[in-house]
Amino acid sequence: MSTITNPSEIARETLRLLASRRMPPSPENYRAIYHEIAGSNDKAEEVFPERELKVLLASLPKENPVQLRLSRQLDQALKGKSWNDYRKALSDFVSEHSNEKELGWSELIGEFLRQWETKQTGLTPARKRESLEHVLVSAASNNETLFARLQSLIKSWSLNGAAPEDMTLVDGIAAGAVEAAHNPSVVAASAGGTSSRASELLPELRELFAYTLEVAVATQLTEAPDIAADARALASAVRNATTPKALESLLTGIKRFAFRLELLAEDRAELRNGLLHLLQLLIENVSELVVDDRWLNGQIEVVRSIVSQPLNIRAIDDAEQRLKDVIFNQSQLKHSLNEAKEALKHMLAGFVDHLAEFADSTSDYHDKIEVCAEKISKADDITQLEDVLAEVMRETRVIQINAQRSRDDLRTTKQRVEAADKRITELQGELDKASNLVRLDQLTGTLNRRGLEDVFEKESSRSQRRKSPLCVALLDIDNFKKLNDSLGHDAGDAALVHLSTVIRETIRPQDTVARFGGEEFIILLPDTSLEDAQSALVRLQRELTKKFFLHNNEKQLITFSAGVTCYIAEETQVAVIKRADEAMYEAKQTGKNRVLTR
Ligand code: GH3
Ligand code: MG
Ligand code: MG
Repeated sequence: MSTITNPSEIARETLRLLASRRMPPSPENYRAIYHEIAGSNDKAEEVFPERELKVLLASLPKENPVQLRLSRQLDQALKGKSWNDYRKALSDFVSEHSNEKELGWSELIGEFLRQWETKQTGLTPARKRESLEHVLVSAASNNETLFARLQSLIKSWSLNGAAPEDMTLVDGIAAGAVEAAHNPSVVAASAGGTSSRASELLPELRELFAYTLEVAVATQLTEAPDIAADARALASAVRNATTPKALESLLTGIKRFAFRLELLAEDRAELRNGLLHLLQLLIENVSELVVDDRWLNGQIEVVRSIVSQPLNIRAIDDAEQRLKDVIFNQSQLKHSLNEAKEALKHMLAGFVDHLAEFADSTSDYHDKIEVCAEKISKADDITQLEDVLAEVMRETRVIQINAQRSRDDLRTTKQRVEAADKRITELQGELDKASNLVRLDQLTGTLNRRGLEDVFEKESSRSQRRKSPLCVALLDIDNFKKLNDSLGHDAGDAALVHLSTVIRETIRPQDTVARFGGEEFIILLPDTSLEDAQSALVRLQRELTKKFFLHNNEKQLITFSAGVTCYIAEETQVAVIKRADEAMYEAKQTGKNRVLTR
């Protein structure tokens, strides 16, 4: 180790060593040997090449956030003259980029193609394309971000599940809208809770919102074209608003739109109520006008019952179907009825003609006989009388034949009139029956609630008029749910049909059975005491133990619990049924398969 400490001596010695070692006299070699002689650390005093590094930094690209971040870090390191910071920034950058090589692009693209080609519920190619474009634009400058966003986009597609093959574009969008509207958690769930996933869903949400405004809302507003135009304009603003200013004005627009929509909804509700009221008035009026056309009453009743309660699309559909059936039957029957009436008219017209003819011929006969009588009174000898007599005989025979023919015609006409009359009565009956269909339960053919109301009205006022007891029984099948569960709903239906058949076979003709609800029936027993009514129900219980319900050839015992009560003058149907229901409930509570009175 050298002991030279004087810098000028060290310099001299350095030059000497450079020469003796035959090293090129470069600054680096000079510096290395200088430090060797001085015994100092060349690194500690290393010159920081700020100028060169600045030139280098200036030439680096700064086109995306990552590049900008790197140049910022390098600049900081330069300012602090810190090799360490400089090294760290560079090595971080390099390792970030080498990570990229590990991204599974080929698998990702494979999966992307699979999901692109799969039809998913609520996703259309257009929506997929839009989401993809958004990802490409927002993450184009960074491979890693692009990779991550593409990955989550693909995952969100796959979470949607496969759609049915025949799903159309609009269906797809609509299904997505409906699903999102009914279950907001769907959106959240498929977002997976991460903010990047959530931002993936934003373009979809934006499109869905625009679609809802443009299609779902605007098309509902045909009678308010200016609000519909607003909806369309808002839809386009929803699609295009990206700057904070545009978003703010969008918000205001949406608020104003919601307010206008609210006003419109109020107007519409008022309009609907007005129409309903009008319809009610019309129905009342018509039903008073058509007392003679009994067959119309069934139809009016259906409409009346619909407008008397809150509008319900299922009830309207159901009523429409039943009305269509009734109207079809009625139109057939009315056609036949008109034909029969027409035929009757023809027959009567023919008959009148015959009568007229007959009258003509008889008056003709009288004229001729009168002429003959005159001839007879004026006849001088018997030979003159011969001709007159022959004439009288001839005329009498003609009138006899005519009379005979008329009698025969009369008889056949009478028969035909009777037949036509009978047919008309039959058709009229069928017409009434067709109208009554709306009062019958479609499954069991017993009366339904509506039909029960009519009969109850009739029977209760008859009971009051005649002061005769009217009993009401309510029966409810025991453990019906179990039967349904073990044998199936169809078997349950068949059991209901079986029970109603047995009831009808067991009760008297003047009794009435109605299906009151699912597995509950009401029986009206006119002119019957409470005791007798109870016995009738017990008899029905016994009948059911003989007439089994067969399911797949296996006997199934159906039992029921019943409550029986007597109608009290002036009370409502609701009140009397409530009492029967209480008795029935008690029968259930005390072991079922019982008939209790109240
Ligand atoms: P309980 O002895 O206490 O009366 O028991 P339950 O099981 O008979 O009574 P619950 O009221 O619990 O169940 C009635 C069942 O009747 C439930 C419903 O599924 C069934 N039901 C109602 N209407 C119909 C129908 O039209 N057809 C069929 N198959 N089942 C019906
Ligand atoms: Mg029940
Ligand atoms: Mg029951």
